[in-house]
Amino acid sequence: MRRDDPDTLQFDWMLRLISRNFTVLPLGKAVERLKSGTLPAAAACITFDDGYKDNLTVALPLLRRYGLFATFFVAAGFLDGGRMWNDDIIEAIRLSPAGLLDWSEFELGRHDLASDDHRRATIAAVLGKLKYAPHDQRARAAREIARRAGVEDASDLMMTADEVRSLRAAGMEIGGHTWSHPILNSVGDDEAYSEIVRGKTELEAILRENINLFAYPNGNPERDFSPKHVAMIREAGFAAAVTTERGVGKSDSDPLLIPRFTPWDRTPLRFAARCALAVAGRI
Ligand SMILES: [Zn+2]
Repeated sequence: MRRDDPDTLQFDWMLRLISRNFTVLPLGKAVERLKSGTLPAAAACITFDDGYKDNLTVALPLLRRYGLFATFFVAAGFLDGGRMWNDDIIEAIRLSPAGLLDWSEFELGRHDLASDDHRRATIAAVLGKLKYAPHDQRARAAREIARRAGVEDASDLMMTADEVRSLRAAGMEIGGHTWSHPILNSVGDDEAYSEIVRGKTELEAILRENINLFAYPNGNPERDFSPKHVAMIREAGFAAAVTTERGVGKSDSDPLLIPRFTPWDRTPLRFAARCALAVAGRI
């Protein structure tokens, strides 16, 4: 990302607004204080999922500018050159020539790549179609599509293990996000548990410390994971876990089902309004 990228500027004003209006705590600390009933009013946690390199190159300098600490949930299997299935698809569509794209053999339809708008619409349509395919099939199809489109195997989209260490050394928290980011409801129980534990163990080996925070991949408590997965998270030794259910943690929230909301507002006013609703418990 370039320094003048709107996303960077947007993130900058969001952090300024958060730092002025909230007591920002690392998630681990916030959960402890939530449990003990000592969480300050208007407390906020900042989290990032997946382990993209721009977490380090873009987010970290801005967090430091405002003296904020965040939690980064890393899918450990993609560190050091990996690429998630969705990025395989995005890169394949980006590299495909203008004209008709025929992915009917993958049951992903035919798409007209006449303009940038068409490409964006195609990305959304294909990601939507493939997202809930069985985990292995999803990864295989995306990899084959990327290979045929000429997407290079090597990728620097995600962090390296060293970069995860750098984030931690800067005082940031690191949490588990499975090994290869399966939607837990789309894999068997043994695979779900081994994905959860393998991701945790790998991060613990990299950081030489216990990892006790977790984010559910995709994260919707009904659609994407089930109570049995919450039990697995507890069994694996995590103390707290976040979902993508929209909402804010309260004193009676289950620490293994902490809701979040995404700050995808384009203007400071809209984001401020969303934060105010969150504080009022109306999100
Ligand atoms: Zn994720």
